[in-house]
Amino acid sequence: MLLEKIDNFDIFRPKMDSSKEVLHAIATFQADISPAFPYVNAELGGWDYDQINQVLLLKLSNGKWITLHPHQIAIRGIRDLDEAHALLTWIQTQINDIYERRDHITPRYVSQAGLKIMEILKLLPMTNCKVCGYLTCMAYAAGLREGEISLEACQPLWEEKYREKREKLQAYLQSYGWRALDEF
Ligand code: SF4
Repeated sequence: MLLEKIDNFDIFRPKMDSSKEVLHAIATFQADISPAFPYVNAELGGWDYDQINQVLLLKLSNGKWITLHPHQIAIRGIRDLDEAHALLTWIQTQINDIYERRDHITPRYVSQAGLKIMEILKLLPMTNCKVCGYLTCMAYAAGLREGEISLEACQPLWEEKYREKREKLQAYLQSYGWRALDEF
């Protein structure tokens, strides 16, 4: 097991967010979990993966983030102690499980942050019809890049005349490991 023991788990209210009802937490340990990062990035769809400094950022729904460092896991934007422990248990289980299965996973070194809004925009119908709930295709493209909205929300894109654009967009998103935030 790659990450068996957590040595320390601190939960605190960040000074910069002291007015908000959110907590941050940091778990530290002796084990080096960085060998799991390209596989975790592939399986969970990391938001940003810095290979040089070995930092993998996972963006969750409702403003929560998990940042993985070789000997540290930082969790931001949690509500309480129970949520902090639940998220730590979840990510520890994911890291161990994914690392166990690494021989069957294609590692991924790019991440969602590499997606370009203009590239997404070019593959949308560009009619600014507002069906998706955004005022413009540009705003939708930005929301899509962040994982805040699904591809299905752009209903016109699923019309036959946009098939080629849709398939290119799906392939483009997939190549960066895109996922919607509510996928876990
Ligand atoms: S539904 Fe599609 S075409 Fe219409 S505004 Fe949204 S992104 Fe643009």
